[in-house]
Formats: sequence, C-alpha cells, structure tokens
Amino acid sequence: MKRKRVIVLGATGSIGESALRVAQDIPERMEIVGLAAKSNAKKLAAQANLLRPEAICLVDEGRLGELCADLAYHPTIFAGEDGLIEIARLTNAEMVLVAVVGTGGLRPALAAIEAGKDLAVASKEILVMAGDAVMSAAARKGVRVMPVDSEHNAIFQCLDGRNAEVKRIILTASGGPFRTTPNDAFEAITPEQALKHPTWNMGPKITIDSATLFNKGLEMIEAHWLFGVGMAQVEVVIHPQSIVHSMVEFADGSVLAQLSHSNMCFPIQYAVTWPDRVPNTLPPLDFGKLRQLEFNAPRLGDFPALELARHAGETGGTLPAVMNASNEIAVSAFLDRRISFPRIWHLVEEVMNRHATVAKPSLDAILDADRWAREVAVAALKD
Ligand code: NDP
Ligand code: MG
Repeated sequence: MKRKRVIVLGATGSIGESALRVAQDIPERMEIVGLAAKSNAKKLAAQANLLRPEAICLVDEGRLGELCADLAYHPTIFAGEDGLIEIARLTNAEMVLVAVVGTGGLRPALAAIEAGKDLAVASKEILVMAGDAVMSAAARKGVRVMPVDSEHNAIFQCLDGRNAEVKRIILTASGGPFRTTPNDAFEAITPEQALKHPTWNMGPKITIDSATLFNKGLEMIEAHWLFGVGMAQVEVVIHPQSIVHSMVEFADGSVLAQLSHSNMCFPIQYAVTWPDRVPNTLPPLDFGKLRQLEFNAPRLGDFPALELARHAGETGGTLPAVMNASNEIAVSAFLDRRISFPRIWHLVEEVMNRHATVAKPSLDAILDADRWAREVAVAALKD
C-alpha cells in the first residue's frame, strides 16, 4: 500500500475541501504536498497550516501579503497564473487534482501531464473545452486521467476497463431544484432559488449548471472524452435521490450501477486509491431508509441545455468550447441578476449559432474560440 502525494488546485472550493477531508480520513493513502487557490488567502493559509504541504500557490498576487502573514511555517510559495503551472509540476507529487472552477485549470493540467503526473479531474470544463488535447497528451505521456465527477467516477467503477463492451452510458441527474417547476415559472427564478440544490452541496457555478441541466450537458461531453464513447451512446436519466451515480449497459444487456451517498469524498477517494478500495469513515447506505429510487426521462423541451450539449458534442471541434465559455458568462450574469434564468440557455444558443466551428482545432484555435465566445456573449448581454 502506497501513500499518494497529491496537489490540489482549487483547494479552497467545495471539491478542494472534500479532498482535504479525504486526506485526513485516509492519511496512510493520501498526502497533500501542494495546495492552490485563486484569491481566498485566509482559507488557503488555514488549510496549509493544518496539512503543512511543501508548496502553496495563490493566483491573486495582490493577496500574497495576507497569505504570508497567516502562515505558521515556511512552504515554497508560488503566485499568479504561472505559479499554478509551476506548482502543478512539483517534483515530489504523483497526482494533481484539478478542482478549479471553469477553464483556469487547463494549462496547469497540461503542465502536470507533461511532467508525468496522473490527473484527477473534477473540472469538467477543461475536458469539454479541450478533451482531445488533454486525453491525447495523457496517452502520449502514459499518465492516467482519473474522473472525480461523481457520475464519471461511477462509470469508471462500473466499466472496470471493459470500455470496448459498452452499449450505453446512462448518466444520472438529480434534475436540480426546478425538476418539477412548470416552464412558465422559469422567468421569475431568482439566484437564491437556483442556488438551493436538493441533493448536493457545491460551488455556485456548478449549482446553477445543475439547475439549467448544463451540468449534465457538460458531463455528456466529458463522458465522451473520458471513456471514448460516441455521443449517441450517452444518455441522461433523471434520478432525484442522487444515490445511483450513473450506470453502464454492456453489450449483453446487463446494466451495472454504482451507489453511495451524495458526498464527493467517495469519488475523490477512489480516484486516489484506485485500484484499491480502502476503509474510511464515510456513512454507509441504509437501504431500509432509502425507501425508493426513482428514474424518469428528462424534460428535454423545458431544459434545452441537454440538446444544445448533444449538438455541441456531436459537432465537436471548437463548438463545445464555445458552449462552455458562453455558459460561464451567462451563469455569472444570472448570479449578478443581469439576466433571467431562461436567458442563460438563450444566450448560449445564440453564441453557438453565430460560431463558425473549426474542425480538428489546435489548442490555440480552442483558446481563440473560448475567447471569442466570451466576447460575443458579453457583447450580446449589452444589446
Ligand atoms: P468552488 O467555486 O467551490 O471552488 C472553486 C475553487 O477554484 C476555489 O478554490 C477557487 O479559489 C479556485 N479557483 C477559481 N478560479 C481559479 C483560477 N482561475 N485559478 C486557480 N484557482 C481558481 O467550485 P467547486 O469546488 O464546486 O467546483 C470545482 C470544479 O469541480 C468545477 O469544475 C466543477 O464543475 C467540478 N465539480 C464540482 C462538484 C462539487 O460537488 N462541487 C462535483 C463535480 C464536479 P478561491 O476560493 O480562492 O476563489
Ligand atoms: Mg457530476
């Protein structure tokens, strides 16, 4: 049994906090050697003082003074966006957990791969944007890309390496807070209502994505890249209890599922300890209390994000990056109360419609498309 040395990018966020809990729960299997955050200096310092990683990184250089003032020891300190790339290459680490919200984790993820480190990916946005670049770089360097997203971790567990025998991947979705809300009430939805997720406790961006179902749309494309399946093989089913984290149907018609409580410590631990399963202090499922597990078809007409994502994934090229980038702009505009809830998908659709997709894009072409989409989305918000 070997202890894995892990760097956490996005340490101060929801996934980062869960990762730190896992490291404290199974210290004989996981050691945190690096922590990085964007601007929350106080929280990063407190986390570092607790776990004493050898290196930390704060992207926001203006807050370095605050960070240093709170540190009770002398780690190596990296700063800025370049610092994020440097810490991702830290000699002493074997795995980099990318848990940065949005696409800020892409360059550090690629740097980690080039440095020969395994990735644990929570940041689905980087796979949606540049799945081909990430997966082919990893294959070239012979490093692993372990899924942390609960659905993909579930699929990874069900697949157990039998990717060639898959008929369908069935992604479960809680349906979010508006699963049963009539669509004529969508216009009046407030950020506070959308931020109340029924089953998961997550950062604001993914919580809004869960409400629009863009999260599931992004996950369809994520599954396509992680498991090498066609978009047509990826289905979505609504499962309000969030206990079955996803399912795989094999060529012979048998379906395997993975179940656990909706707690991200489960998938994070498995991404770190794979192929081993080790005991922890997480709560077991009590089937006597579960009562029922429901499954329904998604309301595709009322939640267009799923079909937009399917279209983006099937078209490929730069279109998924454009969808992802315009969604990021739309989500932050909604959270700032500048647009209504349904305007999120209207804006994304508008930007996607205006994009001339580049097939087989280089990384630079993808980054250009990402920038273009953000500019077009921001300009459309001013109209
Ligand atoms: P949070 O908003 O809770 O946390 C985001 C983290 O990223 C923070 O540590 C933040 O630092 C850091 N960060 C933000 N921007 C940058 C940047 N440009 N460079 C470096 N660090 C940055 O998000 P979540 O933890 O909820 O989500 C993180 C990722 O994981 C997302 O991609 C999400 O889709 C994915 N995910 C999350 C799940 C969940 O349960 N939360 C489940 C499955 C996937 P600071 O605090 O300093 O701002
Ligand atoms: Mg998920």
